[in-house]
Amino acid sequence: MKYVSTRGLADTLSFEEVTLTGLARDGGLYMPASLPKMSFDDIRALRGLPYAEAAFRVIRPFVEGSLTDAELKAMLDETYGDTFRHASTAPLNQIGANDWLLELFHGPTLAFKDFALQLLGRFFDHFTARQGKRLTILGATSGDTGSAAIEAVRACENVSIFMLHPKGRVSEVQRRQMTTILAPNVVNIAVEGTFDDCQALVKAAFNDHAFRDEVSLGAVNSINWARVMAQIVYYFTAAVSLGAPERPVSFSVPTGNFGDIFAGYIARGMGLPIERLVIATNANDILARTLKTGSYAMGDVHATISPSMDIQISSNFERLMFDLAGRDGAAVRAYMDTFAANRSFSFAPAEYAALKDLFSAARVDDKETSATMQAVYKASGYVADPHTAVGIRAAEVCLPATGTPRVTLSTAHPAKFGAAVKAAVGVDPVLPAHLADLLGREERYQTLPNDLNALKALMRAGGRS
Ligand SMILES: *Cc1c(COP(=O)(O)O)cnc(C)c1O
Repeated sequence: MKYVSTRGLADTLSFEEVTLTGLARDGGLYMPASLPKMSFDDIRALRGLPYAEAAFRVIRPFVEGSLTDAELKAMLDETYGDTFRHASTAPLNQIGANDWLLELFHGPTLAFKDFALQLLGRFFDHFTARQGKRLTILGATSGDTGSAAIEAVRACENVSIFMLHPKGRVSEVQRRQMTTILAPNVVNIAVEGTFDDCQALVKAAFNDHAFRDEVSLGAVNSINWARVMAQIVYYFTAAVSLGAPERPVSFSVPTGNFGDIFAGYIARGMGLPIERLVIATNANDILARTLKTGSYAMGDVHATISPSMDIQISSNFERLMFDLAGRDGAAVRAYMDTFAANRSFSFAPAEYAALKDLFSAARVDDKETSATMQAVYKASGYVADPHTAVGIRAAEVCLPATGTPRVTLSTAHPAKFGAAVKAAVGVDPVLPAHLADLLGREERYQTLPNDLNALKALMRAGGRS
């Protein structure tokens, strides 16, 4: 498989190169040059397979030329066999006559990001060893990416990681899951700013090509194609469990950077019968407004009780724009230039129509999120985390109550957001045993201003200030 940049100017790369590169040199994101298709029979044959085997069949065409079948199989068996605490890896839990939750929080750091990052860590180890190279990972986190990425690379021999989080804007459990990992290749940085500031610093570092080469920068954010790729798998396994390919399924996806839902869009493009994809946002509703108006216009970042979605600029949306614009890199560049100058751009009418044809969207504020946590708890005894509750509510708003099954992606364990859960339903969710002593562990992190030069200096010094 070959990969092309959404902005059309960067070199075409292999899967191995794309995985180690992250952001394309022209500022774009990498996309597969063409989408592999799964036939009706291919999809039906996934039924009943162990998760790792289903993953092998879905992922195989994307890594062709970079990994042998045996290498890929071994990595998938290790990733999904050993590090997830649930026998079915990504179980479905029915919470209503036509409503299911796809529980994606049974990995080591209790959020769906483990699905992709546990695998990405293994890709990094494999490819850096093969090339005799070191990799410096720079990432930004609104909470869950950081811990999942650190957990994924803490034991990697040739990788060090610098993880930025917005100071005071992640939950205590989220922060401690990052800062209590005291491995020498892990550097945590609290930035005096928002998540978008952190993400902008990462982008700026990647766009500084001399610096990028000097420290051999790599990415763990969902600008890295391998992350999106890993997330395609659970759309297939969930839909097949509920009757696909004979019966279509709809998904509601709590959305921040548009990575997780974009994986659903790719699954549909590969042939999975997904009827609708619902973009579920909190008060940071740039995507919901885009669906309503056809204009992608930046707003202010609001702090919410679903902090992993407190994002205004959704990096992966550019991947969808690329497809909407007929895979025309020049058109994407023009949109992104307009956005950089005006903080907004408007889609051409045909593109806007195509967008609405594919997706629905709803904005769910904190009050509605809490009310949804309460209603679900009352009706079924199920304790949902606030991000999941945003998804459940958006499914109710956007999808018919009967007919096609409604599956909401449950993106985090409730104990990661214990305070919001307790406030809504009166129950204090318990952390799983492997994290039970988290609040007593030693923390290590540094604080930096929102300043690229300060960051570069710290990285050049290997994290010692
Ligand atoms: C990261 C995250 C999201 C948003 O996922 P995107 O891929 O950025 O859209 C939603 N919920 C939780 C719990 C997360 O950690």
